[in-house]
Amino acid sequence: MIGIDSTQEIRRKIACHERISSTDALWLWRNAGDDLLRELATEVRSRFHAPHACSYMIMRIINYTNVCVAQCDYCAFYRLPGQDGGYVLSQEQVFHKLDELLALGGDLAAFNGGFNPYLPLDYYCTLFSAIRARYGDALEFYALTIAEFMYLADHARLDYATTAKRFRDAGVRWITGGGSEILTEDFRRRHSKFKYTVAQYFEAQAAIVAAGLKTTATMVIGFDETIEERIEHLERTRQFQDQTSGLASFLCWTFKPYFTPLGTQLGAIEITTAEYLRHLALCRIYLDNVPRIRTSVLTQNERALEGLLYGADDFDLPIEDEVTQKAGATINLQFDKILNVARQLGFEPTYRHVASAQPMLR
Ligand code: SF4
Repeated sequence: MIGIDSTQEIRRKIACHERISSTDALWLWRNAGDDLLRELATEVRSRFHAPHACSYMIMRIINYTNVCVAQCDYCAFYRLPGQDGGYVLSQEQVFHKLDELLALGGDLAAFNGGFNPYLPLDYYCTLFSAIRARYGDALEFYALTIAEFMYLADHARLDYATTAKRFRDAGVRWITGGGSEILTEDFRRRHSKFKYTVAQYFEAQAAIVAAGLKTTATMVIGFDETIEERIEHLERTRQFQDQTSGLASFLCWTFKPYFTPLGTQLGAIEITTAEYLRHLALCRIYLDNVPRIRTSVLTQNERALEGLLYGADDFDLPIEDEVTQKAGATINLQFDKILNVARQLGFEPTYRHVASAQPMLR
């Protein structure tokens, strides 16, 4: 009886556009079947998007350096300063990668590298100014993740507001919410203790929004996090959006454990796609103030498209990401094949140019 009452109460809340609580989310995770999660997530999705609409982008993650001092135990990508195999891409190498992206029909690049103590802020500002000068609006780029942004500010002994303005003046429009993984202090103490606290993370993101830059939210699941930690992450994200309205989208992907210290310790087991899809539904239901919920082709391949049935409305078709590829991700450049999966599920994908606002129902 308790289960039936809870289902009815949560259905009522969603029908009335009321928020579900952390307790409701926990109840849903533990008790709701896939059909109920899909139904509720689709209902919240319908507040923002037409039923069969979805969007995608072709993009490339440019891993400009793998030298990093953060030593996250879930990472197979980094090299410590002075270690063999460390690299920094030159401006010409970055341009080459961007030209390849354009040739493949993409127009979004996302820069993601390590906390490299040898690279000053000027390296980044010079690079981003040069990209804006060379490509104008022909492509857009996500300059860094918030985690790298914080390291750079710290390294340059600048506050977050000043650092954000320096980037804005260099032609940057976006700094994305990467490097968040699971936003609980305990998770960060366990796995990435040099990657700043959750409080600092949101302080930096608020400064980015205040400087007029755009940003996004992300999440990674499949480590050793608890369901309570996942819900805490969603609660903090929802609160931040309430306070700032700065989040353009939310993307969740799954931990690729291969060749990572943590993955080795946990037996290199990935969570199932079924669990990922249930979590996506929970994200859509919980994050009632984030219009765009994205599903991860990078880590779930074609099965990510099933996320469209669980509340997602958008996805990337990535052509490169060394960080996840080093930990076991595989990339498929047969874009039509992937898009056909979305069509077979009843959706009509349209290309989304990141600089333009995709029409939504509200
Ligand atoms: S995840 Fe990023 S910050 Fe952490 S060790 Fe790897 S490159 Fe460095």
